[in-house]
Amino acid sequence: MNEIVKKIEASSHIALLTHVNPDADTLGSALGMYHILNSMGKRATIVNTTQLPYNLDFLPGIKKVKKALPKNCDLMMSFDCGSFDRLGIETKETFLINFDHHKSNTNYGDINIIDPDAASTSQVVYGFAEECGFSINKDAALCFYTALVDDCGFFKYDTVNAKTFEFARKLCELGVSPEFVANELTMREPLSKIRLIAMVLDTLELKLDAKVAVVRLTQQMLAKSGGAKEMADDALNMARSLATVEVAILLREEEDGKIKVSLRSKNYVDVSKIATLFGGGGHRRAAGFTLNEYNFDTVLDKILQLLKKEL
Ligand code: 5GP
Ligand code: MN
Repeated sequence: MNEIVKKIEASSHIALLTHVNPDADTLGSALGMYHILNSMGKRATIVNTTQLPYNLDFLPGIKKVKKALPKNCDLMMSFDCGSFDRLGIETKETFLINFDHHKSNTNYGDINIIDPDAASTSQVVYGFAEECGFSINKDAALCFYTALVDDCGFFKYDTVNAKTFEFARKLCELGVSPEFVANELTMREPLSKIRLIAMVLDTLELKLDAKVAVVRLTQQMLAKSGGAKEMADDALNMARSLATVEVAILLREEEDGKIKVSLRSKNYVDVSKIATLFGGGGHRRAAGFTLNEYNFDTVLDKILQLLKKEL
């Protein structure tokens, strides 16, 4: 830990890297660290090379996220990113500290601080900051809490245990209002989202004795509804919620025609195993990958072949 604290103290500009198609955990963890570093008088820049989700605009500091890596940074940290290619940068320019909770993490950092038992990466970052004796202010706590609740489905997932609540309790003591975060995250939906979910659910199919539910999202649906791609996540969760279903699959057509697959399971299938076979990764109950394949049915057949053995 001392070695890392020295690295931070010696640095003059720290780049905080978040993964492509960012979620609340990657951005909340990076923003939390940003506020901690700022209060230490350190210069830091958060980087995300893709589009930010619409519902995280309330996180303090989010407007400062930059699209490209700053030229003069002398230390990098990455958050919630299982593999280097998901950072969206070409090369590792400088010393990198990798904070994560994905068990599929490839340990691409010079230092890797990874806890697969943590419910969010923000829990890993908070634990690190606490151990280093860094002071954590209310803004940092708000970012960490948002990351946590979004990544554990508001304390619903198998990653949640007594330590998760202990972490949440500390954040509330720092001034976080759970009601505020819940409302900001879930009570500001645009009509385009509901329209998009209706279109995606309209594609619902059941496979393998109704243990698998498949939904599809095309570029055409995005254009027609005016919705954003991450808005279909709720449709995927609804597909998983069917009584007979163990695994839900979302096939999403990307801008370049490639197919992004999201997998969710309910009780026993380890979907990160399947995603890893296709070059992706994730967690036991939520994982994903992208293929250079342009046909939904070809991709679906390949996944169903593998799933057959797991069900
Ligand atoms: P989602 O399906 O929502 O994109 O992602 C679910 C989980 O799988 C997240 O934890 C995410 O980080 C991980 N994941 C999604 N796509 C990929 C991928 O292409 N590579 C890796 N390593 N992880 C992914
Ligand atoms: Mn996460």
